[in-house]
Amino acid sequence: MDIHEYQAKELLSRFGVIVPQGSLAYSPEQAGYRARELGGDRWIVKAQVHAGGRGKAGGVRLCDSDQEIIAASESMFGRKLVTHQTGSEGKGIYRVYVEAAVPFEREIYLGFVLDRSSQRVMIVASSEGGMEIEEISAKKPDSIVRSTVEPAVGFREFQAREIAFALDIPAALTQQMVRTLQGCYRAFRDLDATMVEINPLVITSDNRILALDAKMTFDDNALFRHPQIAELRDKSQEDPRESRAADRGLNYIGLVGNIGCIVNGAGLAMATMDTIKLAGGEPANFLDIGGGATPERVAKAFRLVLSDGNVRAVLVNIFAGINRCDWVAEGVVKALTANPVGVPVVVRLAGTNVEEGLRILENSGLPIIGATSLMDAAEQAVAAWKNDQARDPEEETS
Ligand code: GDP
Ligand code: MN
Repeated sequence: MDIHEYQAKELLSRFGVIVPQGSLAYSPEQAGYRARELGGDRWIVKAQVHAGGRGKAGGVRLCDSDQEIIAASESMFGRKLVTHQTGSEGKGIYRVYVEAAVPFEREIYLGFVLDRSSQRVMIVASSEGGMEIEEISAKKPDSIVRSTVEPAVGFREFQAREIAFALDIPAALTQQMVRTLQGCYRAFRDLDATMVEINPLVITSDNRILALDAKMTFDDNALFRHPQIAELRDKSQEDPRESRAADRGLNYIGLVGNIGCIVNGAGLAMATMDTIKLAGGEPANFLDIGGGATPERVAKAFRLVLSDGNVRAVLVNIFAGINRCDWVAEGVVKALTANPVGVPVVVRLAGTNVEEGLRILENSGLPIIGATSLMDAAEQAVAAWKNDQARDPEEETS
């Protein structure tokens, strides 16, 4: 789960990371008030969306008066901000954060991530902050410092000092830098984060180390033990299709093609998507119904997959190990009898009781296309989608 910049700053500051003074606003007028409350004569207005790259997309604006703040906020509220991280649909701006602007000398990149290959928390830092880490690793790979945390002893002070030296932090600021690094690490560990990123971390003109931006992502599977973090969820920043599925205990990923996928298991979902692409199609989504494919679950899955207007064909791909193909087939038949769908449905079953399952589909009298292999299923689904496209060429652009 992602949270907003202002929320990440609030959390990190509880762990001793220094952040600029700031205040949240839900309207342009409120943004003006907030600036007056903060005082000073220069402010930054920042669109709160779950994505980076806001600066380049017009989502971060430097303002010298409350009129400028109101105008900048007016141009943000209610709009969709499109950055290189949001995809073309963008993310809605419903909150802005107003901060006292801070003059600075240097920008540093700082990230804490889970490194899966070493199975450790890894600190990634660079003296070339301000740009995205991808850009840094393309343009200034030598500036990147990496350090992993030994879980038996945790993040040690000497390790933090080593990072500070590698980044050429002035000696007088080493202790502040160590506190910042340790604060981020403790926040990462104590709150079950999977990512903490401060970009830029700056050295201000009055010689302080300050987090000008902050981003945190949390492990969804650990949210149950952090209700105060779970509360920070902002559904306005999520794909509405994915939120709906998550609320119903289903695993749904929205994509951009036209073939809806109902699959059991994430690995099988990946294989299904690859095969659809190989057959010349594009998946619209994939929905993992998990182990117990009861008729109710299958019906829910169909409703969710079809709520995406781009879906022109549905591919059901079930491998029944613990499950049984005849149960799944019954589920599909019940779901489609109760709620007939307007698009072709291709079903591929494999595993326990597959013959019985296929017989149930055949005898149902429903227009279900049975498939014998995954490749066959993908080709049939792509053919069904292409047929539909040929019938209704208007839809091609959707
Ligand atoms: P991002 O583009 O979404 O990562 O948003 P950031 O919060 O990182 O802001 C983009 C850029 O705006 C930063 O890299 C800074 O250069 C600049 N910026 C942000 N806050 C301040 C500030 O308080 N003072 C000044 N002078 N620049 C800022
Ligand atoms: Mn940033």
